Amino acid sequence: MPFVVAIDGPAGAGKGTITQILAQRLGLVNIDTGATYRCVALATLREGIKLEEQEKIINLTKKIQIQMDEKQQIYLNGENVTRQIREKEVSQIVSQVSSIKEVRYKMVELQRKMAEGKNVIMEGRDIGTYVFPKADVKIYLDATLEERVKRRYKEMQEKGVIITKSEIEENIKIRDYNDTHKEIGALKIAEDAIVVDTTGQSINQVVEKIEKIIEKNITL
Ligand code: C5P
Repeated sequence: MPFVVAIDGPAGAGKGTITQILAQRLGLVNIDTGATYRCVALATLREGIKLEEQEKIINLTKKIQIQMDEKQQIYLNGENVTRQIREKEVSQIVSQVSSIKEVRYKMVELQRKMAEGKNVIMEGRDIGTYVFPKADVKIYLDATLEERVKRRYKEMQEKGVIITKSEIEENIKIRDYNDTHKEIGALKIAEDAIVVDTTGQSINQVVEKIEKIIEKNITL
């Protein structure tokens, strides 16, 4: 039976890094669900659609094609947009775009399809609560706001993105608010999730902790 490991948590909690390492170590298919919403946000920007024009965003969502390959590359209508979806402009609008109910229905359908028949580790906000409420293992990764801002800032600097620490803090705060106040698929801790606080922990410490939890619950 294929299984699902759900990794949920707020922006900057370390989901991306940790999930990628675990997928490699345990031979699981890595699905980054945030990337699907980022594609919708990027397409919205490219079409010049305003956030108030929800109908237009919904129609756009129906038309676009999103694909992900095994090397974690993301394609929007056949174009590799792995780098573009991480840009500041996309991060600024993605949580609003992903709050639209119809956008979520479409993306959740796509995410479930991506996982079909595979052993997956899936990261997002609502994997353990909505996308796969019966996931075999549910982890909620958390960290203080200060730590999450610090990490994002370092990540952006390494990527050569010009952004200030306070811009990042502002963006994370707004995303936290939007993500926890969604009508559907809001960020919250699933009742049966194990909370892992990554504040002050090294990547290795967190990976090992979660690896043990997975191995205890699933026969790999
Ligand atoms: O994980 P990442 O920061 O790339 O996600 C971008 C945005 O997509 C989040 O801020 C959130 O608004 C949205 N998202 C979501 N549900 C998910 C994954 C991401 O609403 N499962």
